[in-house]
Amino acid sequence: MKTIYRTYEDTEVSVLATRVKCPYCGEEWLEDDMNDCGKTYVIKCDDGCGKEFEMSFDAS
Ligand SMILES: [Zn+2]
Repeated sequence: MKTIYRTYEDTEVSVLATRVKCPYCGEEWLEDDMNDCGKTYVIKCDDGCGKEFEMSFDAS
């Protein structure tokens, strides 16, 4: 039987990851801690085209 080991570092404390999509190249990924209602975040498309875009988060 196989055994895996995990530590506290492997624990996902925040489950409120927000799915974002780059409006330039269409790259999609998850961002943590970007869920304050009414706030606008500036996100950089690190894994895609490298451009920055804004994400307005609203609970509705
Ligand atoms: Zn992009």
